[in-house]
Parts: sequence; C-alpha cells; structure tokens
Amino acid sequence: MSLLVVGSVAFDSVETPFGKAEEVLGGSATYFSTAASFFTDVKLVAVVGEDFPEAHVDFLKSREIDVNGLQKASGKTFRWKGRYDFDLNQAHTLDTQLNVFASFKPQIPEKYKDAEYVFLANIDPVLQLEVLKQVKKPKLVACDTMNFWIEGKLHELKETLKYVDILTINEGEARELSKEPNLVKAAKTILSFGPKTLIVKRGEYGSLMFSNSGIFAAPAYPLESVFDPTGAGDSFAGGFMGYLSNTGNLADGNIRQAIIFGSVMASFNVEEFSLNRMKTLTYAEIEQRYTSFKRLTHFEDL
Ligand code: AMP
Repeated sequence: MSLLVVGSVAFDSVETPFGKAEEVLGGSATYFSTAASFFTDVKLVAVVGEDFPEAHVDFLKSREIDVNGLQKASGKTFRWKGRYDFDLNQAHTLDTQLNVFASFKPQIPEKYKDAEYVFLANIDPVLQLEVLKQVKKPKLVACDTMNFWIEGKLHELKETLKYVDILTINEGEARELSKEPNLVKAAKTILSFGPKTLIVKRGEYGSLMFSNSGIFAAPAYPLESVFDPTGAGDSFAGGFMGYLSNTGNLADGNIRQAIIFGSVMASFNVEEFSLNRMKTLTYAEIEQRYTSFKRLTHFEDL
C-alpha cells in the first residue's frame, strides 16, 4: 500500500552541545519519507526553492521515494534554525523562514489521490487540509504539528484536526494545544477535537498512546550517544506510518508494534546530524534494534 506525505523540505541550521550543522538537509517531510521508505512506497508532496540542490532530490530518489509531487518554485527553500542545550528533549527555535511555503498551493498528482495512508507532517495546517481535500478515500490519516502553528494558526489547526485519525505531538505541545498541564486530561481534550488516537512524543522518555482502547507506553531506546535530536519526531512518525502502510492492519496490537518501529527509526536518526544516519542504515539493523526493544520491555509474571 502507499503512503502520501505533505510537509516541509528544508535547510536546517542546528546547534547541539556536540556540534553544529549549517544549512543541511532537513524538513518534516524529508525525515518522515526517508524513515517510511524502509517499509513502504512513499509519495512526497512539498515545495523547494531554486536553491535546492539536485543531489538532495537524488538522495530521496535513491530511497525510492516518489518525488513527482515535489514542486520547485521561484524563491528560497524553507529554512529552520534551532538550538538544543543539554536537555536534548527541548528544541529552541531561533528562526523560521517559510520562503516558498508562504505561497505554496499543493497540487496532488492524479496517481497520488488513491493513497490509503496519509501523513500530514508538520507544516501550515491550511496546507495540510488542502492536501487532504484532494485525496479520495484514505484508510488512515495521521498528523503532526508544533508550537509554531498552535500559537500562530490555532483555529485552522483545529479545523484540520476534525479530519484526522491519529495526532502525533510532543508533550509540551499537547499541553499547549489542550491548555491543560495534566497529560491524561490533555489527551481527553485533544481527542475531543477530532482524532481517535493521540500519540504524545516524550523525547528520551519515549511515547504514550491514548485511544478508546486505553493507554500504551513505549520507552525510547536507551542510547549512549545522542548527537542531534532534529527529526526524531518525524522519523518516529515515518517508521510508525510506514509499518502500518506495509502491513495494512489497524488492529490495536499492530498499532502498538508500529509504535515500536517508529521508536526504532527515531533512535537511529538521532545518532548523527541531518539524515546522515539514514544514509547508511540497513533493514537488518532495524530488525536487530526491534528485537533489542522487545527484550528491553519484556517481563513475565513469576
Ligand atoms: P522534529 O521531528 O520535530 O525534530 O522536526 C524537525 C524538522 O521540522 C526540521 O527538520 C525542520 O526543518 C522542521 N520544521 C521546524 N519548524 C517547522 C515549521 N514551523 N513548519 C514545518 N516544518 C518545520
């Protein structure tokens, strides 16, 4: 089955306690589609500017991502600048330049419209909804967002959320969106906006899923060296949606397994800057870490 994603394709400038990267390949849709490409066919909808090098497009193609929906517009590519201090769970945005995204009108290629799995990666909620309106009859729609849009386009975001099955957001953003400090209560409020399932990403503390089947908790894989957390959330979502699209099974047990595959992809991504770890990653390594995850969380009644 195929998976459609709309989101940002970006140049990121990132500073962590361990180093600095300037104008490297980033963006929510880039991380998402690369992670998902290890599991399923991915169709990408986004826009880049004239300054976007062909080598980056070639990388996406090398992962067999369909880039027919990646438009090139006159102007500059989206740029994001962020900093992490020793608490790597918290990204501090220093600058966001929408550039070509400010006037982007997504045109979904005809062959994308049948996509059964859709991911609305972090981008203007108006664009997320425009994409959704052009897709015929998706089986599952998931969505991500961030404080930039919660603060800047709350009304539009709530409109988009009416059509979303699963929302994945960070812990702080869940509190901000619901205006509720307690996460369990925050989840209830957010589920009343439309989504049937909420996945709260908690950085190195893992994730929590809330739905009418109850609550599921997954740890993050304990790593000795976390280099750059940028894209962890999108890689998580890519592994999660990629696995669901591959298996076509939306039973609660399979969704739990998908969360672990998402956590596996996020754990690889943070090991290096930008998408560098994804460039060398193999499926055998993904399977190995999945097995370690199982051991990490397994216990029995004696
Ligand atoms: P995350 O997975 O949450 O770490 O997302 C990181 C990616 O989100 C970076 O590569 C940024 O380019 C992208 N990003 C940051 N701010 C925004 C925004 N306001 N809209 C869309 N994408 C963004």
